[in-house]
Amino acid sequence: MPIIIDINKCTGCGACVYTCPFAALELLSEKAKVKEESCNLCRACLDCCPEEAISLMEQAAEMEAAAGERDKPTAEAADVWVFAEQRDGKVVDVVYELLGEGRKLATKLGQKLVAVLLGSNTAEAVTNLGERGADRIHVFDDPRLSRFADDLYTAAIVELIQNERPAVILFGATAIGRALAPRIAARIKTGLTADCTGLDIDPETRNLLQTRPAFGGNIMATIICPNHRPQMATVRPNIFKKAPAEAGRKAEVISHEVPKGANLLSEILEVVRATEEMVNIAEADVVVSGGRGLGGPQHFAMLEELARLLGGAVGASRAAVDAGWYPYAHQVGQTGKTVAPKVYIACGISGAVQHQVGIQAEQVVAINKDPDAPIFDIATYGIVGDVHEVIPALIAEIKKRRS
Ligand SMILES: Cc1cc2nc3c(=O)[nH]c(=O)nc-3n(C[C@H](O)[C@H](O)[C@H](O)COP(=O)(O)OP(=O)(O)OC[C@H]3O[C@@H](n4cnc5c(N)ncnc54)[C@H](O)[C@@H]3O)c2cc1C
Repeated sequence: MPIIIDINKCTGCGACVYTCPFAALELLSEKAKVKEESCNLCRACLDCCPEEAISLMEQAAEMEAAAGERDKPTAEAADVWVFAEQRDGKVVDVVYELLGEGRKLATKLGQKLVAVLLGSNTAEAVTNLGERGADRIHVFDDPRLSRFADDLYTAAIVELIQNERPAVILFGATAIGRALAPRIAARIKTGLTADCTGLDIDPETRNLLQTRPAFGGNIMATIICPNHRPQMATVRPNIFKKAPAEAGRKAEVISHEVPKGANLLSEILEVVRATEEMVNIAEADVVVSGGRGLGGPQHFAMLEELARLLGGAVGASRAAVDAGWYPYAHQVGQTGKTVAPKVYIACGISGAVQHQVGIQAEQVVAINKDPDAPIFDIATYGIVGDVHEVIPALIAEIKKRRS
């Protein structure tokens, strides 16, 4: 056997069993054992053992070197999965965006697009996922899963991954996706790229190319996970277009049960919803955003009035949020939310790159008294002027036209 396990060092932690992309390791009497017929000498297990109990026989290493390029785990791991997050039984929009992008990846890999749905009374969500392009849906329908329960969700998905061995899993970078994806990645000992803004497949290696802003948004980094499967990424909402719905399209549905030993370690006693006034800026058609140029928190009142007249929501730059002028839930940008309205109105915002990355609007209107402010670089319409004059004038004009 070319892979050697030092049983004196092996503690039976199972790290190698989770890591092996070919299911070639198992635990027998709390010691790791290699299944010779399944081992592909990919060497993923060598790096993952915390006790350094796994090594490669010299002869095998030579054979491998002679063979040139090392086998990649993509040979076995297959299919592009999307975690189908639901709230109150309704699939959240970012899932449809991931299905749209996931379809492109699956086509490039020649593999299936698969949704993983956990919830209770899931029939409607299953229909919607099928119509939005999932080829197959793994469903866990259990009253305990109606709300996000990190312990149960993690246990169910980890077991499913170990049985099915997907190549890629995508999560929305929502509060739930951001809580769940790292737990799963840690359990199965694979990599996770957070907050991706671009995804593609390398045609040569078939690795997932995961692009995200790095170093304060000044560069875009493309990250790969070549030696472990699945390749996991969270993706910000509003980055990709939703997969179109095709009425009557159906997916293959496979039902599963939550693993027996999985228990809820925490209990949700109460869910307090955000109030009506806290419009979700990520979903608004019009966002009127204020920055340091407003001069103080009291001036957000005129932005609220303008947003109300336009049926929109109020956003803020980080400078305004950090100054305590407006709540963080409204922050647009790299460390805030990505918004994709039809119209984004930036008022007294300079347009730093960290703010710009959060704007995916069809049209941008910028109001700034500095004609050289970078926000004008991305503006469809620019108004060089004082917000305290321009915004009241806009409000008055809208009211006049409406009356
Ligand atoms: C790691 C990192 C993450 C970050 N994440 C974010 C993020 O998520 N979102 C974000 O917004 N920023 C973020 N930032 C901060 C970002 O770099 C900028 O500092 C911030 O966006 C500036 O906010 P501002 O445009 O409101 O303020 P300023 O840059 O101070 O701009 C104020 C603008 O108002 C104009 N102005 C002043 N008075 C008036 C007036 N009366 N009428 C009209 N115009 C006027 C000025 O000409 C100026 O252009 C991040 C920074 C880092 C390092």
